[in-house]
Amino acid sequence: NGAEQSFGDTEAQREVRENDRQYVFHSWSAQGAINPLPIAKGEGVRFWDYDGTEYLDFSSQLVNLNLGHQHPGLVKAIQDQAGRLATIQPAMANDVRGELAKRIVEHSFEGARSVFFTNGGADAVEYAVRMARHHTGRQKVLARYRSYHGSTSTAITLTGEPRRWANGTLDAGVVHFHGPYPYRSVFYSETPEQETERALAHLRATIELEGPATIAAIILESVTGTNGILIPTPGYLAGVRALCDEFGILLIADEVMAGFGRTGHWFAFQAFDVHPDLVTFAKGVNSGYVPLGGVVISEAVHQTFDQKPFPGGLTYSGHPLGAAAGVATFDIFEDEGILERVRDLGERVVGPRLREIAEKHPSVGEVRGTGLFWAIELVKDPDTREPLIPFNAAGEAAAPFNAVVAACKQAGLWPFAAGNRLQVAPPLIISEEDLVKGLDIIDEALNVADGYVGE
Ligand code: PMP
Repeated sequence: NGAEQSFGDTEAQREVRENDRQYVFHSWSAQGAINPLPIAKGEGVRFWDYDGTEYLDFSSQLVNLNLGHQHPGLVKAIQDQAGRLATIQPAMANDVRGELAKRIVEHSFEGARSVFFTNGGADAVEYAVRMARHHTGRQKVLARYRSYHGSTSTAITLTGEPRRWANGTLDAGVVHFHGPYPYRSVFYSETPEQETERALAHLRATIELEGPATIAAIILESVTGTNGILIPTPGYLAGVRALCDEFGILLIADEVMAGFGRTGHWFAFQAFDVHPDLVTFAKGVNSGYVPLGGVVISEAVHQTFDQKPFPGGLTYSGHPLGAAAGVATFDIFEDEGILERVRDLGERVVGPRLREIAEKHPSVGEVRGTGLFWAIELVKDPDTREPLIPFNAAGEAAAPFNAVVAACKQAGLWPFAAGNRLQVAPPLIISEEDLVKGLDIIDEALNVADGYVGE
């Protein structure tokens, strides 16, 4: 095929690189300081550059490509839809849009009623917050530190990590609080149960001091993604739900990264028996083949806008190509038993192997995760838990961590690197053999990290 022919084609490679450097403005980057890898082709869990160098994709391209590169079922669904009706404006009804909304509602939570479609994750967060504000008549939204919710105005203000800092406070109604993180507890907890209890006491105090009658919603990632694969401690999510009920606050579960099978469930909150009021999703809904996100809306919130118009909308809301790929995603998940295999691979293969790796390497402070969503937290000192890369480190400070990432890439593995963590998030269709292969490469690369311990 065409892409294969371009392997070793340095002319094609040069042109891609040249146009990129000249004309493409990249996210989160100093434009003069980056040199992105030109990609020629992707298939399944692998992608290739123009030299034919092969990478095993443990990042799923920003934890997005849950069904892998070029899944034939997704490609066909998009092709068929493009041949039928490529686009239609949102105020008209459309078969695949309605079918996808129905499937999502049926697979989300008890009391879910409808879906508002967006173009991606950040705008899903914007709209969920807007709905919560109209529904409650309140303005404030509580969000956690160590979170990522997107880069549009409200979403970046909700985000609880350094990428917010330079953007200032674009939404005056946002207040941050701490969630549970036993390995780096800000509550000085000694057990996960204690962490839950103290994190909930802290949240209650935050609500009471901010004024319960001013708070529209609490937003949280059901399982924190980019900021460390933080699994809720026992009883935490149920405790947050109880606080929401007590004070008439809506619970927004941000499932943009954790949703659609990443944890072995349709949505990550389903493992904790909690019902949110609003759920944001994107990425895995159609593996990002066509930009699509959305908000799942409870019956109560839906009713607020039953007679009164909802003030908001997007030209591409429920785009037929994206929706067709979303419907195909549900079919493929069911046909290929994706959820079951993710749970199995997580429990039987990834968890045990990563625990073995943690035992062996002094640079590994902790491993944690679920399904195909894991973090390996790297430290300079296992006793003090000093991160191998300091929080918000840049330049020289990042050199040790960058060396570990480079060792992975050298060996043909593209990891999901975030902060001081190597995160394991391959496409959910990965074979056991490839999974083991990738984990072996990480095991080997961690020897580089061990070299910095105690330095
Ligand atoms: N929420 C979460 C939990 C995310 O992980 C992301 C993206 N990584 C977003 C929101 C924003 O999504 P998008 O980049 O599609 O705007």
